[in-house]
Amino acid sequence: MNYLSTRAAASSLERKRFCEILLEGLAPDGGLYLPESYPQVSDATLSQWRQVYHQQGYAALAFEILSLYIDDIPAEDLRAICAKTYTAEVFGTGEIVPLRHVDEGLWIEALSNGPTLAFKDMAMQLLGNLFEYELARRGEELNILGATSGDTGSAAEYAMRGKKGVRVFMTSPHGRMSPFQQAQMFSLQDANIYNIAVDGVFDDCQDIVKAVSNDLEFKRKYKIGTVNSINWARLLAQVVYYFAGYIQATETNLQKVSFAVPSGNFGNVCAGHVARMMGLPIEKLVVATNENDVLDEFFRTGVYRVRGSADTFETSSPSMDISKASNFERFVFDLLGRDGTRVKALFGQALNTEGRFDLSADPLFVQAAARYGFVSGKSTHADRLATIRSTFEQHGFMIDTHTADALKVALEKRTPDTPMIVLETALPIKFAATIVEALGREPERPARFEGIEALPKRVQLMAADVAPIKALIARECGY
Ligand SMILES: *Cc1c(COP(=O)(O)O)cnc(C)c1O
Repeated sequence: MNYLSTRAAASSLERKRFCEILLEGLAPDGGLYLPESYPQVSDATLSQWRQVYHQQGYAALAFEILSLYIDDIPAEDLRAICAKTYTAEVFGTGEIVPLRHVDEGLWIEALSNGPTLAFKDMAMQLLGNLFEYELARRGEELNILGATSGDTGSAAEYAMRGKKGVRVFMTSPHGRMSPFQQAQMFSLQDANIYNIAVDGVFDDCQDIVKAVSNDLEFKRKYKIGTVNSINWARLLAQVVYYFAGYIQATETNLQKVSFAVPSGNFGNVCAGHVARMMGLPIEKLVVATNENDVLDEFFRTGVYRVRGSADTFETSSPSMDISKASNFERFVFDLLGRDGTRVKALFGQALNTEGRFDLSADPLFVQAAARYGFVSGKSTHADRLATIRSTFEQHGFMIDTHTADALKVALEKRTPDTPMIVLETALPIKFAATIVEALGREPERPARFEGIEALPKRVQLMAADVAPIKALIARECGY
């Protein structure tokens, strides 16, 4: 399997293998990597995968899917990496992504029983093992530098802790994460994990990361990398749970299902798009946004308009508070018939100069819902509270704020004959304040997180300045 950039001209012959793009971020032309084509899953293969999932489990299913896209890691090594990643010990249950039946034709797929209680663990845990494997093979090291306001940073740290050849330098705005999130990250005592509380806001953290990455000499010398959501390996790992959800909700391949996905950077639902392109019988992909409705606006109107920071709201589903959806370019590439020149004009030029582009008059956009199954909707703080409350009253369990956004839109979009699977992306304990607001009581806390706020913390406070961070990286690398 070869990979190309979403901004590559049709005449370009530039192609890469999986392990080449694994440690890279954007393609050199600013585009995102995608496979040259989507492997097609026949009815017979899907039936065989049912058996694999039911008899051998999630890790074996992951191997079947990943091996279609990764042909530069020997099969037995890849199988071992999957087996080491998707264990009941790490993900809390043998099914890894169990379905919870909510109502007639309505399910919630649990994706957040990993180490940080958010779905990002599903991909990040695999990435940690792939990185360790590939760095050892090359005899290289990597210094991951990131900025986080919560979920991504902790998922990255829990995936990379103790991994050989990798250090993580994670900046976060001092005092702005919830006590639970701070405790999750700062209690890690692993020598290769560096928590840096920056005296500033999240944008200051991001600016520092950008400044370091733009210093090309420093970046090369200290092998600076990232683990952001545009990484193809992360997206690929997420394709697996669409298959696992489908297999659990159906008995035959003649049945279709729909998925509702709480969306921010469009990584999660883009994995659903890939699964559908491979032939998984998905009827609809329901994109649910919060008040930051860039994506809902696009699917309703054909206009993609990125927001400035003044128009980006801080909401009670904070992991979806985005001003632009960094993975969206992948879908647009497929939508426009894989015309990289046009994608480059839209994302490389129009967005930079006008902050928007408009596909409303394009017949390809008009066919988007029918051809690709996308529909969308939006959920607000009041909707979130109401959905958390009604779910608890009617069904007796708590859902987190992001999952509530998806469930709200799922209920609007579902049809009687197609089962709907709502992807649960975090556990309620991570967003306790809103749960208390909705239900007047604290969310349940998994036993292994009892008392984590009292654990010793390993974090260093730094000024919002590039120089001390560079100095820290250089000192720890020792070269
Ligand atoms: C990251 C995240 C999302 C958004 O996922 P995208 O892949 O960015 O669309 C939704 N919910 C939670 C809890 C998250 O951490």
